[in-house]
Amino acid sequence: MSGGIFFNRYFMQQKLKIAIQKSGRLNEGSLKLLKDCGISVENGGDKLKATASGFPLEVLFLRNSDIPQYVEDGVVNLGIIGENILFEAKPSIDVKQRLGFSRCRLSLAVPKDIDFMDVNWLNGRKIATSYPVALEAFLKSKGLQSEIHLISGSVEIAPAIGLSDAICDLVSSGNTLFSNGLKEVEVLLKSEAVLIQSKNLDDEMKELSDKLLFRMQSVLNARNFKYVLLNCREDKLSIMKQILPGMKSPSILPLADKGWYSMHSVVREDDFWNVIDALKANGAEGILIVPIEKMIF
Ligand code: AMP
Repeated sequence: MSGGIFFNRYFMQQKLKIAIQKSGRLNEGSLKLLKDCGISVENGGDKLKATASGFPLEVLFLRNSDIPQYVEDGVVNLGIIGENILFEAKPSIDVKQRLGFSRCRLSLAVPKDIDFMDVNWLNGRKIATSYPVALEAFLKSKGLQSEIHLISGSVEIAPAIGLSDAICDLVSSGNTLFSNGLKEVEVLLKSEAVLIQSKNLDDEMKELSDKLLFRMQSVLNARNFKYVLLNCREDKLSIMKQILPGMKSPSILPLADKGWYSMHSVVREDDFWNVIDALKANGAEGILIVPIEKMIF
């Protein structure tokens, strides 16, 4: 009898629906994040939909710009999308979780020989972009009257062919701007992949969504930290503890050699080299750095 209940619960369970980008920059990072959460998705061929294993999840592969609408309409429960696209399509949808990949910035750029002193240079000039909502909001905030020229791709060639005086486009490494003879003059917004969630999920979907979010946060936390092991003399323990406070406090284990200890702790990725320099300068030896797979606070 109880086996039957288990069977039903397991097989009749609803599936959470998540939309990710069909192809393009966010597709790979989205699938990698799901994989790191223990969820594998078959992404073969031109499939629009795939069932995942490792979590009751259905994945829909959609066009970037369609994802916010699908989430808002509740056709899917969750979506992974570039923040700047969300801003263009549905600024009213809240970001549920920043995901830390596909980082870029939406910037204004002008031909490199322009003597650009400040944004007033843009007044009355033509700016080519695929992101008119963000650009218009920026121009309004600065009281500028520029002409927005909407184009859907290859924005960076617009000044060279006489279509515009400036551009407003996504920049990641800056190589595209550089190779088109342009320079970045103003950052409008910083963007990364974000998770969005549809409003009004029923209780079961809400529970599933929270579980998936918990997995994602454990993976993202782990990506931001490294595990550090080091050896030091007893009289250095106090300073090492100050440099490496860890999540609660570091673990300290005596070594076989008297007066020596091994310290284990975690360090934030963005502060990593400063911490390592400080540890070395204060007498740490045999420092080992190990990646962390999941991190649960
Ligand atoms: P880069 O040469 O690395 O600065 O990249 C600039 C080009 O890549 C431009 O054509 C951008 O539209 C595009 N790009 C950069 N980052 C992203 C992103 N996160 N999502 C979508 N397109 C991007």
